[in-house]
Formats: sequence, structure tokens, C-alpha cells
Amino acid sequence: MDYLLTEEQKMLKEMVANFSRAKIKPVAGEHDEKKIFPAELIKELSALGLLAVAYPEEYGGAGMDNVCYFIAMEGISRHCAATAVIISVHTLCIDLIHRFGNKRQKKKYLPDLCAGRKLGCFCLTESQAGSDAAALKTSAKRQGDNWVLNGTKQFITNAAQADIAIVFASTDPAAHKDGITAFIVEKDTSGYHVGKLEDKLGVRASSTAEIILDDCIIPEEYQLGELNKGFKIALGGLSGSRIGIAGQALGIARGAIEDSVSYAKERVQFGRPIAEFQGIKWYLAQMQTEYEAAWLLTYRAARMEDLKLPCVMEASIAKLKASEVAEFCTSKAIQIHGGYGYIKEFDVERYFRDARVTQIYEGTSEIQREVIAKYMLK
Ligand SMILES: Cc1cc2nc3c(=O)[nH]c(=O)nc-3n(C[C@H](O)[C@H](O)[C@H](O)COP(=O)(O)OP(=O)(O)OC[C@H]3O[C@@H](n4cnc5c(N)ncnc54)[C@H](O)[C@@H]3O)c2cc1C
Repeated sequence: MDYLLTEEQKMLKEMVANFSRAKIKPVAGEHDEKKIFPAELIKELSALGLLAVAYPEEYGGAGMDNVCYFIAMEGISRHCAATAVIISVHTLCIDLIHRFGNKRQKKKYLPDLCAGRKLGCFCLTESQAGSDAAALKTSAKRQGDNWVLNGTKQFITNAAQADIAIVFASTDPAAHKDGITAFIVEKDTSGYHVGKLEDKLGVRASSTAEIILDDCIIPEEYQLGELNKGFKIALGGLSGSRIGIAGQALGIARGAIEDSVSYAKERVQFGRPIAEFQGIKWYLAQMQTEYEAAWLLTYRAARMEDLKLPCVMEASIAKLKASEVAEFCTSKAIQIHGGYGYIKEFDVERYFRDARVTQIYEGTSEIQREVIAKYMLK
């Protein structure tokens, strides 16, 4: 499907594929097993401009488009989905400051974030507020010229390493979703702590932890966007980040397909490579078909985003399809590998575990269906 890509997009795709194969593939298994945050890789990826692909050069971004971002996410995930989710959440932090920040905030935060000198995180979820994010209880109360934040955020990607957090808090509890405001919080602020670190099934090289805000005092100018418009800000970043997660899911699926093709050609049973059996060929054909369908849906959503067309439904369709394709392809990859697919020596075991979460974060598959149906029934 490369014919759909511009020369710049093709060059980026090749550059990411080469980096991913040479630098990410050799360490991904160990990072997963030992839960090692890939700090060196993140540094190298930022030097390549991959921590701020679609953001302006004036802030240190690569100045490319959302199709490039999706291609980069796919290429990185081809060998390590955990590295990709670190970048996805970091990008979401950049995106919200870029879209909703004032001039001073953009100037202060974007250059460090785009250059990878600082890492970002996105703090919306709480223990009682997952899919129903508006049920959050973290509070922000005025105290003179400051805001005082109290509450605990749950499942925050990059929590253990992030320097800058976008935190959503209730500023008018009675107004529910119309009483939420976004804030920029720096990690050294007193009262800001990293809480329990989760031990996860997949994407284990990325950290997922609580962020605890205990009388965390921030100056009023750290408010991001308008008062009580935070929920719209949270939703505002979702189309782009869902396209990124669709790219992540596609990279995992791609890995499952490529490893399965190689294995099927090599593995001999009944005196023949298993690739010669119709049962295996049909699995491979179905995997490729599903992958290409999801790729085209994701390309469409990214292209629409670049053309500034409304694409909330299209981003949800892409994320829903790509995440289900990732699960399908990785499950079939294990089947094709037989018993070897079930042991850690082969990467498909990791791909299968990593694929699962793409149906959960950035909105579960059920929530994507809710979004899609809402647009259909409008
Ligand atoms: C590894 C990981 C990283 C994450 N990173 C971040 C992060 O960086 N920042 C952040 O803020 N959050 C993050 N999250 C949180 C993630 O976005 C939530 O887990 C997700 O939104 C689902 O919320 P929940 O886990 O509370 O599940 P729940 O909302 O409790 O859902 C449980 C089940 O009920 C279903 N359900 C809920 N409501 C409906 C409905 N209306 N219709 C049909 N079914 C429904 C869900 O689809 C799901 O199947 C992360 C989660 C994980 C696992």
C-alpha cells in the first residue's frame, strides 16, 4: 500500500523500519521480561524526531503529518509495542499543550517535550473513573493565586519517568463533566508522588503507575485551557491518540504476520514445510487481509486528521478494527508456531500479550462501539 504514501512518508517508514530492526528488536524481549524502561532507545528515537513527529519545527518537532505519526508508531511497534506506547502518551501530552496551551505554556514546555529532554504523561483515569472518565474525584481548589490538587490517578503510562503531567481535576463537582479543568503539573511540585507500580501482562517495558496528588500546589498559570472545559480537552486529544494506538496495534499484527511467514517456510512436518499445508496458508491469507483492511482504515483516519476533517468516528473505527486484528493475528501466529509459539524464546508470545491492551486503553472496544453508534444514530 506504499503507493498511497508520499516520498516523505516512504522515507520515514524505511528509516523507522531500519532503526526498529537494528536497535529495538535485539533488546525488546529482555526489556519485556525484566520490565526495563527503554531510556536509551527513547533518547535515540527523540534524536530522530520521533517523539514529536507531527508538531511544528518551531517547537523542535519534526514538522511532519499524522500519517507519518501513524507510520512511525507502526514501525516502532513492529518490534516493541511498549516503546510505542511510551511515545504515544508522550505525544498526547505534547498535543494537548500544543492545542490548548497559551503562548507562554507552549514556549515553556514544548521545546523540551519535542526534543525528548522531558517526558510527558496524561492523567485522566481514576479507580472509580475509567470508561466513565467524567466520574473523576481528583479536586482542584483555589487558594489565592494557586490551585491545590488532591486525588489519585490510576494506570498512568510513563508515570515513573514523566517530568510533566497533564492532570484532569474537578473544579466544580456539581457540574460533573462541565466542571473539570486540565492542569500542567511538573514532577518536582511538592505533593506530587508516583504511587503503586503495576505488574502487567504486556507492554511491560513501559511503566504504569498511580500518580498521587496530596495538597499539590500549582500556580494559577499552570491551568491548561479554559476553566471547566477540561473534559473537552481530554476528548480533544483522543482522535489523534486513537490513530496512534491503531498504528501500535498494526505494528504488533505486522510482527505476528512476518514471523509466521518465516516460521511456516522453515518448520517441516510430514516431510514438508508447514507453509505448504492449506490450513496454514489460509491462516496467513486471513491475517494479511485483516491487517490490510485495518491499515487502510487507519490511513484514512490519519489522512482525515491531516486534512482537518472531523474524524472522531473514523478514528474509533480504526482503533477498534486494528486492535481486534492485532489480537486475531497474534493468536493465529501462536497457532502457526505450535508449542514454540507458547514459549518465551519466540517473540510471538510477547506480541500476543502486548496486543491485548490495545483493546483497553484510549477507550475500550465497547466504548469505541458506543462512539461509532452515536455517530451512526445522529
Ligand atoms: C496499560 C495501561 C495503560 C494506561 N494508560 C493510561 C494513561 O496513561 N492515562 C490514563 O488516564 N489512563 C490510562 N489507562 C486507563 C485506561 O484508559 C482504562 O483502563 C480504560 O479506559 C478502561 O477503564 P477501566 O479499566 O476502569 O474499565 P471500566 O471502565 O471499569 O470497564 C470495564 C468493562 O466494562 C465495559 N464498559 C464500561 N462502560 C461501558 C459502556 N457504557 N458500554 C459498554 N461497556 C462498558 C468496558 O468496555 C470494559 O469491558 C491505562 C490502562 C492500562 C491497562
